[in-house]
Amino acid sequence: MRRKAGMTKRIILANPRGFCAGVDRAIQSVQTILNTAAPREDDLPPVYVRRQIVHNRHVVDELAEQGAVFVDELSEIPQAAAQAGIPVVFSAHGVSPQVVREANELGMSVVDASCPLVSKVHREVLRFVREGYEIVYIGHRGHDEAVGVIGESPEHVHLIEHERDVDDLDFSPDQKLVLLSQTTLSVDETTGTIAALQRRFPWIELPPSSDICYATSNRQAAVKLVAEQADAMVIVGSANSSNSVRLMEVANEALGGRGTAHRVDDADELDSAWFEGVSAVGVSSGASVPDELVQGVIDALQRLGFTEVDTVETIEENMHFVLPAALRKRG
Ligand code: SF4
Repeated sequence: MRRKAGMTKRIILANPRGFCAGVDRAIQSVQTILNTAAPREDDLPPVYVRRQIVHNRHVVDELAEQGAVFVDELSEIPQAAAQAGIPVVFSAHGVSPQVVREANELGMSVVDASCPLVSKVHREVLRFVREGYEIVYIGHRGHDEAVGVIGESPEHVHLIEHERDVDDLDFSPDQKLVLLSQTTLSVDETTGTIAALQRRFPWIELPPSSDICYATSNRQAAVKLVAEQADAMVIVGSANSSNSVRLMEVANEALGGRGTAHRVDDADELDSAWFEGVSAVGVSSGASVPDELVQGVIDALQRLGFTEVDTVETIEENMHFVLPAALRKRG
């Protein structure tokens, strides 16, 4: 699909893309606190947030500008804030029970903005451990979501990242085994890992429904369709956003060597050299990305001559999560 002289260069937008219900709820949680906090006479902020509320630099910077204070660990929050009832919000990725205990011990007022679909995996861990299972968990080592889920039962949850890690596992056939996974994995890559697990441990059970969430699979399916019609792709999303990085990988796979998928935080990171000779550039964004960043990329591509914009729509999403209980009266 390389460009012939005189051919119109076009952008193909993937839909669905961008914010998912869990990210929207997490951001709304912080926003609701910011909007409804009473003015203070001390120098305490209206809200603390443990870790990035969602893995997007722009979202975090914007909330920080409005007064939210982001911390890596609860120990960074002054005791005076807990005593004054300043809320601390847990991010969409969820936390391990150890963090919940620490917050309780410190007397903090917690607003848990963990995505309900992540919390579902936490509950699955607890249920399967109660029933005597060992759990093989496919996830990314060190990612906040994986750390939180494994923290539910570190001795019974066995993390693997890739198909090749299956060889490192060892279970006897009388050991009840179940598979769980991070919500933001690549659907295709996980299918390969599951097949390898089933070959090695044919008795392994799968969860009642896939842990890879609707937003992850919908965005990957849309990106695949777009990439099949494009000869370059731009995925908007931060480097630490698991679902954005997976989208880039899925896009690269679907481009099949005809072109390259690039991940950018925003339009400033685009390099015009990527689009030399390209006639159709696909665009999508991870689940934590505000659409104005995608619009910025579209504007920049239009300045590079990609004047036509088409959209490939695969499914209409209507998922919505209510605010955490602690905020419903405020919202
Ligand atoms: S990507 Fe999925 S699991 Fe993660 S916040 Fe969004 S809906 Fe929830």
